[in-house]
Amino acid sequence: MNQILLSNLRIMNPFGKPKYLENASILIQDGLIRSVGDLPAGYTGERIDMAGKTVLPGMINAHNHLYSTLALGMPAPKKSPGNFVEILKEIWWKLDLSLDEASTKASFEAGLLDCLLNGVTTVIDHHASPNYITGALDLLVETAKKFGITLGICFEASDRNGESNFKAELSENIAAMIKYDSDPNVLPLLGLHASFTLSDASLQQAAEALKGLENGGIHIHVAEDLADERDALERGYDSVIQRLDHFGLLNNRSLIIHGVYITRQDRHTMLKRGCNLIHNPSSNAGNQVGILETEIIDSMNAGLGTDGKQNNMIAEAKEGIHIRAGKGSEPVDYLKLLFKNNSAIVSQLFGKDIGHINIDSQADLVFYDYDPRTEVHAHNFMSHILYGLKAPSDVMTRGIFRMRARELSEIDVETIHQNSRHESMRLWEKMQKL
Ligand SMILES: [Zn+2]
Repeated sequence: MNQILLSNLRIMNPFGKPKYLENASILIQDGLIRSVGDLPAGYTGERIDMAGKTVLPGMINAHNHLYSTLALGMPAPKKSPGNFVEILKEIWWKLDLSLDEASTKASFEAGLLDCLLNGVTTVIDHHASPNYITGALDLLVETAKKFGITLGICFEASDRNGESNFKAELSENIAAMIKYDSDPNVLPLLGLHASFTLSDASLQQAAEALKGLENGGIHIHVAEDLADERDALERGYDSVIQRLDHFGLLNNRSLIIHGVYITRQDRHTMLKRGCNLIHNPSSNAGNQVGILETEIIDSMNAGLGTDGKQNNMIAEAKEGIHIRAGKGSEPVDYLKLLFKNNSAIVSQLFGKDIGHINIDSQADLVFYDYDPRTEVHAHNFMSHILYGLKAPSDVMTRGIFRMRARELSEIDVETIHQNSRHESMRLWEKMQKL
């Protein structure tokens, strides 16, 4: 029995029970939280005094692209993209085509490191590297295990690089879905890029693959831009969601990303099938695709992702608030998306409680050295989360400290960054040639 008691904590547990405590303790046993609040009577095991620290649940990024980690600072595209599809063609499809095993590995390592440094302990990734397919998901799982991060995986299957590429990408998904089906810390899903880069024949193949897998669900971009919807209409369907539903691809393990242009009928279909919608405000704003309606976010209990734009979930929440305010849109409770909806979605998919500081939750915790400049209490701590906290000092996942005083225990940060800087230059050079 592996026990550890953390004492003298200020606990901020949005949407959990209890929500806010001071001078409190957390007892952890075998990777789970066993008690929250007072010191357990008669406890004699290992104890760590955490005086001065504020603790939050480890954060969840419900949609990320670790493959885009090396995009930071890359040269501008030769041709300036004029719309959403051109952004994909000129930037992201050149980047993913240029990834090989070494640059993919560097992206995973540097990306997951950045997640941990930002207190993100669960990442749902959507991967693309069309010139390095077989083994890519194994490499991702292997890397996440070194960091102790709980991980959703899938390979973005698409027709955009030809039929044989699609088949290899589909096979990589299926192999991972079989291999990691019983791994409690890995969630393998079937990755599809987007409806507009997939033929009916490819969707049919994906649907057949899904039928053979008990816990199968798809992870796909939907109606991110009107171009996706127009394509579905041209193919003779009412919408992207209706097209996916036609092939039987929607269920309660589906992750539907963006949904900026979904219709009322789509929402009804998604609710009926139990699909999860994930909203990515900074990406939508950056790509100028439009703003997801507040009514859709609220009625679908949408989760929050970053679409590879960043790994700081509190920053994503804050940007979401400001983007809507700037557009005069009805406000959204972004901390609810981050701490309630993401937790509900991920807990259902993994089959265990993730994202709370509750009894029996997975012991994923993020600690901050926080000396608040104003009074903090049970009724205003959400503002302190959004506008007061800085970078985490310590991170624990599944009951093990992965970071203590900004130092990572098993990870050599300098080696990872040296390598990712080297790989970034190699990647950018390859992209310039496309
Ligand atoms: Zn995405």
